[in-house]
Amino acid sequence: MAENKLLVFSSPSGGGKSTIIKRILERFPQFQFSVSSTTREKKPSEVDGIDYEFLKRENFEVLVRAKDFLEHEEVHGQLYGTRKSLVEKMLDVGTPIIFDLDVLGALSIKRNFPEALTLYIDVPSIEELRRRLEKRGRESNDEIERRLARYLFERSMSNKFDAVILNEDLETAVSEVLKKIEDYLDSSH
Ligand code: ADP
Repeated sequence: MAENKLLVFSSPSGGGKSTIIKRILERFPQFQFSVSSTTREKKPSEVDGIDYEFLKRENFEVLVRAKDFLEHEEVHGQLYGTRKSLVEKMLDVGTPIIFDLDVLGALSIKRNFPEALTLYIDVPSIEELRRRLEKRGRESNDEIERRLARYLFERSMSNKFDAVILNEDLETAVSEVLKKIEDYLDSSH
């Protein structure tokens, strides 16, 4: 049977994960994105089942008790997690999966699936991270400060990843990531 293929990306918020993952999916369209579950409110632009699986808190908690989460966390009062049954369903039919997770979530996936490739996308500095978050303009100032406050913690976990890729120049970072994935797909684990 073919080996499970799981590709896990993590970075500080604003580090460039989504931008890089978009490029990876263009090159490796066989990867399917792992949709996280959350209790937070759906934004009008979001689609249930595509951006997130939106769950009522009580339903989320039932699934936690049923041990259906590979990882879950409470962030600012809302629950987020990755459902084991959804991941296993994809792996059972041989689908390679790509994950976009915070550092703790990424490391939980690695504990459950040691064959996963975990990549930490780093930024040149906290000042540059602030510039990117401000330029993206998606969060309030308070939210940006909260994201920056997590930066040192996230960075301190980066040595637990299979590889750290510096996203200074985007094209360089994308080529480095592509190379890591090619090696991963070529190697028989
Ligand atoms: P994340 O998904 O990690 O939160 P995004 O992919 O949304 O981060 O990137 C955050 C912002 O930084 C976006 O506006 C993106 O266009 C920009 N960005 C990403 N990579 C670079 C880079 N190498 N140089 C400058 N800006 C970048």
